[in-house]
Amino acid sequence: MIRDIERFTKNIYDLLVVGGGINGAAIAHIAAQRGMKVALLEKGDFASGTSSKSTKLIHGGIRYLENFEVDLVYESLRERYIQLKVAPHLVKPLPFVIPVYRGDKRPLWMMQFGVFLYEMLAGPYRVSPRKNLSRDEVMRMEPGIEPEGLKGGVLYYDAQMDDARLCLENVLMADQYGAHVANYVKAVSFVKENGRVTGVRARDVLGNREFEIRAKRVICAAGPWTNELLRLDAPGAKKKVRTTKGIHIVYQGEISKHAILIGSQSDRRIFFVIPWMGNSLIGTTDTDYVAGPDEVKVEQEGINYLLRESRRVFPTLDFNPAKILATFAGLRPLIRKGGSPRKVSRKHLFYEAPSGVIFVVGGKYTTYRKVAADCVSKLRKVSGKEDFRLYGSGAIPESAEAVAGRTGLEPAVVRSLMDLYGTRYEDVLKLAEKDPSLKEKVSDVPPVIKAQLIYAVQTEMAKTLEDITGRRLSLVYQGIVSSKVLSAISSILAK
Ligand SMILES: Cc1cc2nc3c(=O)[nH]c(=O)nc-3n(C[C@H](O)[C@H](O)[C@H](O)COP(=O)(O)OP(=O)(O)OC[C@H]3O[C@@H](n4cnc5c(N)ncnc54)[C@H](O)[C@@H]3O)c2cc1C
Repeated sequence: MIRDIERFTKNIYDLLVVGGGINGAAIAHIAAQRGMKVALLEKGDFASGTSSKSTKLIHGGIRYLENFEVDLVYESLRERYIQLKVAPHLVKPLPFVIPVYRGDKRPLWMMQFGVFLYEMLAGPYRVSPRKNLSRDEVMRMEPGIEPEGLKGGVLYYDAQMDDARLCLENVLMADQYGAHVANYVKAVSFVKENGRVTGVRARDVLGNREFEIRAKRVICAAGPWTNELLRLDAPGAKKKVRTTKGIHIVYQGEISKHAILIGSQSDRRIFFVIPWMGNSLIGTTDTDYVAGPDEVKVEQEGINYLLRESRRVFPTLDFNPAKILATFAGLRPLIRKGGSPRKVSRKHLFYEAPSGVIFVVGGKYTTYRKVAADCVSKLRKVSGKEDFRLYGSGAIPESAEAVAGRTGLEPAVVRSLMDLYGTRYEDVLKLAEKDPSLKEKVSDVPPVIKAQLIYAVQTEMAKTLEDITGRRLSLVYQGIVSSKVLSAISSILAK
């Protein structure tokens, strides 16, 4: 896809979306699908904000039942069902085990009842049936778990996703429906006539030049940057977003076969140890954060907390810091409200400033489609019932083995392409058919062929090394990125 900045200056858009995280991407996607002339700007790479720093769960959020947020859980469970259907390559069912110990802050009956309620709320949208587990069953399912004090447990199902790619596929859909989209373009000020917003002044971060974009409506889906943009629109405007930080650790090897929900004994928080890309994702934390969103980083204190609490449940593992493959931190852009961070609602709202700029506030990843559809309906005053699809949606008619047989690629490579791109794996294969040198593998784990690097740049709008190693291929989360991959990417980017 050619990055054409000039075209932004030649149009008056129906809608200009600032922020290419999941909410902005999906708003652009749905608005363009409903026939609006749309522009989408992202100051970094798509999903480089919170939308690549999540726990990667498309879930109802069982813990929100504790806060009596039944409507939010119900809505999320429905959205989970939709995402499992439309993006089976990116959203997959994931079994969870909750082990419960003597002295836990939430006793076994409470966990069993919670999961029962969760399944009732899911109704027809359930993934698979839950099961109450005896102590022995928990031990059989997860032999590495601490036996001392174990009372029993519960098995239930949610879903795991690739957050950065789900966001990207919404951007690609927006583009397909005719939206003009660009990463590395920052909105630096609002343009107004008689106090009403008529567009933004934008900076092309890569080309280092500024230009004006005109639009009838402007929406800011800026996640943790919302307060900054509110003040750009009206200096002195009240903050609407409360940012709380969450960190994750990627730990070498699969600690467990199932995702394990752990209730922390030190502060009543819930966190997860999740099998993820052959390793384990441990997280998250939830602490108030007041500095600028661009400065967020992982603190040692958070790492210590997660390792300490995980060691309690998996005592035979050393939780050696040398086995930490990666860490990352993100900010939840929550509706501004007092109280403990874990009790702040994950609901969303739309705030329309006196200038006419609309700000998306709050929400969770799981409900992005609903947030976006509601937002566009608010603009158009009609509710649309679109056929919601993603870029790689659809059934794959051939098996990986059959495709491997006809292309000469290894079945593991083809499986990996199908997992990453859904039906679009064929677009990557077409590149390799045109130039067979692109079938060369540049990485074994995970398998990556050269054609994917070209595809990332030509179709998926990757502009930097990190766009590819981080958000397109998730290599940075799987250990050291080999010099072979790095030099292959560098030479492609240089061309
Ligand atoms: C630790 C953690 C774990 C989470 N886990 C889950 C989970 O498992 N499941 C779930 O459902 N939810 C989860 N969430 C919540 C979910 O990730 C967020 O609600 C969601 O990603 C927010 O998306 P967004 O588009 O609003 O914000 P963002 O993804 O932050 O997007 C906002 C974008 O706006 C851009 N931007 C800002 N200013 C400008 C400007 N001036 N010009 C242009 N662009 C600009 C930023 O660069 C950014 O990319 C988690 C959140 C955190 C922090």
